[in-house]
Parts: sequence; structure tokens; C-alpha cells
Amino acid sequence: VQARPTIGVDVGGTKCLGVAADAEGRVLAEHRLATPDDGAGLIESIAAVVHELGRAVGDVAGVGVGVPGLVDGTGALRFTPNLPGIRELSVGALLGERFGDVPLHVDNDATCAGWAEATLGAAAGKRHVLLATLGTGIGGGLVADGRLLRGANGFAGEIGHIVVDPSGPPCPCGQRGCWERFASGSALARFADEVIGEDQTSRMLELAGGRRADLRGEHVTRAAAEGDPIALGLMDRFGWWLALGLANLANILDPECIVIGGGLIESGGVILEPTRRAFHELVEGAEHRPDIPIVAAALGERAGAIGAALLARPTGASPM
Ligand SMILES: [Zn+2]
Repeated sequence: VQARPTIGVDVGGTKCLGVAADAEGRVLAEHRLATPDDGAGLIESIAAVVHELGRAVGDVAGVGVGVPGLVDGTGALRFTPNLPGIRELSVGALLGERFGDVPLHVDNDATCAGWAEATLGAAAGKRHVLLATLGTGIGGGLVADGRLLRGANGFAGEIGHIVVDPSGPPCPCGQRGCWERFASGSALARFADEVIGEDQTSRMLELAGGRRADLRGEHVTRAAAEGDPIALGLMDRFGWWLALGLANLANILDPECIVIGGGLIESGGVILEPTRRAFHELVEGAEHRPDIPIVAAALGERAGAIGAALLARPTGASPM
């Protein structure tokens, strides 16, 4: 008997991306909607994505949803710095009312992505994996001894908010100098904005359509991949900050592999090379431990949705 598919939805800062996937994580259908900025709208959008995918593939065995921030064991999104209009949202209860008997699993988005990458992506077969996704912030997925590391409340892996500079820029979480203010996609855009200054000829600005407000990290990585010297200089600086957090985490977790995900990593090498160099300088006892590969994620923007679909399977999911 062919196992029924499951649906996974990944709620990002800009879009809700859903997939229907089979038991091996192969994508059967995909649908996306913009992410609304309020809780009621968010529930509507997730439900609409699930409904559309259900129409495409028929009967499903479960629904998984990944949302950014602190997600507890009841499926409530307690706190999410990068979706400021949303707090204490009972995602699991509100969606459960709509889906009836279909089993529902709500989890942290990067936890979902980490599970997908460790199961069938860039770290397939590895038992100790650290995933960092670079977007508006930095999401973390931790796999230890083959299982997701969740902590007492399900809140483990909020790696973007470890403070690396107490006098650094303010973070939407309320602290100053969180790691994601220095090593996320939005941090890279901020670095670029600072160095561009009044330079109207900047290649990074040109890639952003000439509009400062539209400048994103991807424009910097693309300019660096083309050889733009200013963008390449920024990659060295960015790679150091990224490596600083990764080295701190590696000292704690001792992973066998580090996976970097998020849109920035499409231009892979320009980020990974300076990061690997700095990581080697920063991690404890680099000469006295096995090399920890730092690799690009393999599942692209679908990693979180695929992981949510895998975690929604009645069997084979990592226990909560
Ligand atoms: Zn923070």
C-alpha cells in the first residue's frame, strides 16, 4: 500500500511555502502565499495553502507547520521577534479546529529545515548536525545523536539571539548585538548600505535596481560572485561574524557537520570560503580535532516545508 502523502508549510518572513510530500520527502505539489502581518491572517494563509495542496494530492496522512520563533509543545507560537505583529498565537489549536481528524504537528521553522537536511539533504546520514539558516534573522536546527534537540519547552536552537556584541545594534527581540544582527541576510544588507555611502556606481546598488531600500544580502553575494572587490571585502567581514557564532556553537555541540541554509547560500562559495577560514581560527583546538565541514544546504528554500511534512508523518518523525 502506497503511504499517503503529508503536507508541510514553512512560514517565513515574506511567504508561506507549502509542499505535499511522499514518505521519502519527494515533493508532489507546491503552493505559496504571502505571509500576512497579523495572527488571524496568518492562520488563514496557512489553512489556504494546506487546502490547496490537499486538493492537489487528495487524502493526506498529516499536516506539519513550521513557524519562526519560540514554539511550545502545544503548538503555540509564543514569541517571534521577526513577525512583530504576532505573539502568543495558538497555531496548533486554531488550525486543529479546521483540519478535524488530520494529525497536525507545529514546530519551529528552522528545526523543520534542520530535520530535512539531516534526513535527506546536505547532512544525510550524519547524526550530529548544526543547521543555521540565514534570512531576516538566523534560524537554528540542532540534531544530536540522530534526534532533534528540543530542550525543556521545545525552544532550543534559537541561535540567532546569542549575543555577540553587547553594545551592538538593537534586535527586535529586545536585546542588543544578537548574532543575527551581524550574520543574517539583513545584516549583510546593512553592511553593504554602510560601505556604499554616496557611491552611486556600486554594483551591489545596481543589482538592487538602484534603490537603497531594496538592497538585500543576495545582491551582495551576487556582486561578490561576479568579483566586485567591495562586495568581496564585505564577504570577509560577514564570514568572520558568521564563523564567530558557528565556532561558539561548535564548542558547545561538537557537530560532525554544519549546514548553512537560506537564500544567501545560493551563491554558496563566496560565503563559505571566508567562513571556513575564520571558523578554523575561532573554534577551540582546531589542530586537535577532526575538521568540521561547513556546507551549503541541499534542499533550498523548500527545506523547512519538506521537514515539516516529514515531521507530520505518523511514523518516522523525531519524538517531541
Ligand atoms: Zn535578538
